Amino acid sequence: MRVATGRASLSDGRMFSVVVEGYGIGRQRQAQRTFNLPFNQLQGMVQMVARQGWRILSVTPVESAENSNTPPGSVPAAAPATQPASEPVPAAPSAPPAAKPAVTHAPSHAAVPVNTYKPKDPFVGTVIENYSLVGEGAIGRVNHITFDLAGGEPQLQYLEGQSIGIIPEGTDANGKPHKLRLYSIASTRHGDNMAGHTVSLCVRQLQYEKDGETINGVCSTYLCDIEPGAKVKITGPVGKEMLLPDDEDANVIMLATGTGIAPMRTYLRRMFEPTERETNGWHFRGKAWLFMGAPKTPNLLYDADFELYQSAFPDNFRYTKAISREQENARGGRMYIQDRVLEHADEIFAMIENPKTHVYMCGLKGMEPGIDEAMSAAAAAKGLDWAELRPALKKAERWHVETY
Ligand SMILES: Cc1cc2nc3c(=O)[nH]c(=O)nc-3n(C[C@H](O)[C@H](O)[C@H](O)COP(=O)(O)OP(=O)(O)OC[C@H]3O[C@@H](n4cnc5c(N)ncnc54)[C@H](O)[C@@H]3O)c2cc1C
Repeated sequence: MRVATGRASLSDGRMFSVVVEGYGIGRQRQAQRTFNLPFNQLQGMVQMVARQGWRILSVTPVESAENSNTPPGSVPAAAPATQPASEPVPAAPSAPPAAKPAVTHAPSHAAVPVNTYKPKDPFVGTVIENYSLVGEGAIGRVNHITFDLAGGEPQLQYLEGQSIGIIPEGTDANGKPHKLRLYSIASTRHGDNMAGHTVSLCVRQLQYEKDGETINGVCSTYLCDIEPGAKVKITGPVGKEMLLPDDEDANVIMLATGTGIAPMRTYLRRMFEPTERETNGWHFRGKAWLFMGAPKTPNLLYDADFELYQSAFPDNFRYTKAISREQENARGGRMYIQDRVLEHADEIFAMIENPKTHVYMCGLKGMEPGIDEAMSAAAAAKGLDWAELRPALKKAERWHVETY
């Protein structure tokens, strides 16, 4: 697609409002987003949208009076895609302003909602939607499932980085009700539809072979198979480990494999999704860098959204993929996330030296040794001892890990 921009040069400072329509995997989901972009980012956005098989609905110049106040990637106030809700959970107080970079902390733990609903008296939510997140040829099943939380007394509220519990239907081998399983929340506190009373999860069906038989995980299968309208027992929220700092100038390095992307999606939506930014008033200005590991391209979760954010916010968001069965590392082996960490070690450590930088890791437990090894090697190359540095980062609440 060609975009008519009139007289314009690469140094053109004019802003354009771009309305993009995208589809989820399988084309079952439709979403319209409006981004404000400077002229020199338009071409990149158009190419990215074409690559994803999405559509640009309109490109219109933004009035120059607005231009002066409109950072790249932001949404024009006049074009909300949905009716936004107010912030359901008050943001915790920000760190006091400081002359030089101060350590950036996660929200005050006292302000974080926990265990509003306990296993003995869970909230019964209703499934709104359940769709596949993986493309054709992917390994396994991963679904995005959204529950309505409306009508809760009290309302189940949560923050980005928390988890909820799900109690599957039925009984275990001893005839007892199933125990809850935890799932990282994949939506921001406003929910995917911005209504302020939904929560979404990103669930991989557990499947393994035992004695020649395929065993399906109880809760993950229950969730992947669940139909809209079904009632589900929900507990929580829980977790304070993966909270995002309040500071709009924080830097955030994210290391995710598989469904470990769930908390990262909440951060990235909070930072870059137009309707989110409009509602939360939290205008992230730092650097966010996502390292995402998957076995194959069709297993990359929410990939098109992240590509879109990178196009709209190239100065604030970087997206690096490790696709183990398709890409080779420097030694000719499979490309894992730790290989990408090693490749970019200098830049990662330069960022970590800044006290405003937080690192988040989420995914299967098996990813930890590889990342640790890569960080040790990268630290050693800079004359640093990772065995000392990691606990120091942890103590400063800048190293956040949730693996399962
Ligand atoms: C904080 C936290 C966040 C989480 N977030 C997510 C998330 O966002 N998305 C997500 O999909 N999951 C997430 N999980 C994992 C989730 O809680 C469940 O553990 C997962 O869905 C499996 O539950 P299940 O009921 O399907 O399996 P179960 O029926 O409980 O089966 C699991 C059991 O099967 C056995 N088993 C598993 N693999 C094998 C194998 N290869 N060989 C032999 N035995 C095996 C083990 O005994 C294991 O305990 C999270 C876990 C935690 C703790």
